Amino acid sequence: MPRRTPPPIEAGREIQETGGEGSGPPRHAGRRPPDIAGPAPFRRSRAPPWARGGRGYNARMTSSPPSFHAVVVGGGLVGKTTALALSQAGLRVALLAPRGAPPPAGAEQFDSRVYALAPSAQALLERLRVWPAIDGQRLGPVLDMQVRGDAFGELRFSAFQSAVAQLAWIAESARIEAALDMALGFLPQLFWREQRAVALDNLSDGPARLTLDDGTTLSAELVVGADGAHSWVRAQTGGTVKRREYEQTGVVANFHTSEPHRETARQWFLDGGEILALLPMAGDYLSLVWSARTEHAEKLIQGGGERLGAEIERVARGFTGTLRCVTPPRGFPLALQKVDRLIAPRVALVGDAAHLIHPLAGQGVNLGLRDVAALADALAAKEPFRDHGDPVLLRRYERSRREDIGAMTLATDGLHRLFSERLPFLRAVRNAGMSIVGAQPFLKRWLVAQALG
Ligand SMILES: Cc1cc2nc3c(=O)[nH]c(=O)nc-3n(C[C@H](O)[C@H](O)[C@H](O)COP(=O)(O)OP(=O)(O)OC[C@H]3O[C@@H](n4cnc5c(N)ncnc54)[C@H](O)[C@@H]3O)c2cc1C
Repeated sequence: MPRRTPPPIEAGREIQETGGEGSGPPRHAGRRPPDIAGPAPFRRSRAPPWARGGRGYNARMTSSPPSFHAVVVGGGLVGKTTALALSQAGLRVALLAPRGAPPPAGAEQFDSRVYALAPSAQALLERLRVWPAIDGQRLGPVLDMQVRGDAFGELRFSAFQSAVAQLAWIAESARIEAALDMALGFLPQLFWREQRAVALDNLSDGPARLTLDDGTTLSAELVVGADGAHSWVRAQTGGTVKRREYEQTGVVANFHTSEPHRETARQWFLDGGEILALLPMAGDYLSLVWSARTEHAEKLIQGGGERLGAEIERVARGFTGTLRCVTPPRGFPLALQKVDRLIAPRVALVGDAAHLIHPLAGQGVNLGLRDVAALADALAAKEPFRDHGDPVLLRRYERSRREDIGAMTLATDGLHRLFSERLPFLRAVRNAGMSIVGAQPFLKRWLVAQALG
């Protein structure tokens, strides 16, 4: 896979090494990261006033609070990518998020949160020069995908037939976050604080005002809510959210396998609406996502890795080899969430704050990263007379995301419902449907195109 370092989203400022003060970034001063910095020469410079250390900050800023084009609240993968994209585009950005723990070291040390990254996510991370900094030894390509119904239905996809280099990459969340943290650490102009926001005011006129839990106040033209499914930012705007519990838990764990996985992702729709997916990680490792009824999930987790491995082998009937668990199983409750608006005055929502979907298609982060790209594009196209929280820009952002989010929500929820029905008639229909789709190259190409983003 060729690794390029294309330009950032917009010709931004040079990335500079700095002796920034206080607790803020960069944490890597004096060390040039291999690819993130690109060809620009490093110059020692002072961080601008808004980016300097947290302590005593208010004392320096005598009257008005420090002002930003955008304040990003929340630092999952989506929040950190947002801060990076907007900062690299030259905006004054504050990020309110904890710094990630270093990824587990050692060949058999894994983060249990593993993602299938679509080409759209890869493209964004390449544009931001983050992709080359992700440990390549821990990126596994998906070249083939096999989906089995709960009877005779079967679907196969291949990168070769779809004329793409790979269908997705399998990567641990902590490795991506480490690369993002490193990139963010090289932005002296970024104001990065670990405090949480506790108040958001003044949304109707003038810039928004955010108060942090240490009493600091920040002024922002735009507040980006990247704070996950239970978004605090969304709650402050009074936006409505519809949530439906799937009454399933996503059980995740990683396994060593005695048989090569041949870069093939496999998914089984099981009787009763459960879905078992095994994703091919780099080397002879597989990552499990088993969307199981909650009481079954509890049993799977409590039984421990060895019993879980044996249970997967039973379901997979010879497709896995012998499994050895390398990260203890964990569970994540699954739900569907739809928000009425992605925007509010001076607020844009991205990632799980904006949409929560079933993980059966492995698309949550991918959808969130496409939000980031769309928001960065909307802000880059800003007319000079508007500020960054102008309602026209926010509406453009929302419009550009509606179709993608709607289609992915419908598809994942529809599939979940279809396979949850126990009626024999529906069972026959869905399995026949899979076989029919599988025999139609055009339909398959369309499905792959949707999944690739
Ligand atoms: C089992 C499972 C498997 C999945 N597999 C995939 C996959 O293969 N591919 C894929 O694309 N997606 C997958 N997903 C979906 C993916 O996990 C989510 O879509 C993604 O993590 C959302 O990222 P986010 O940054 O929007 O939110 P989060 O990761 O939830 O991050 C939000 C952050 O905001 C912080 N925060 C919250 N409130 C505040 C506050 N007031 N102030 C400051 N910070 C705050 C939180 O601490 C957190 O760090 C999967 C999900 C599950 C459950």
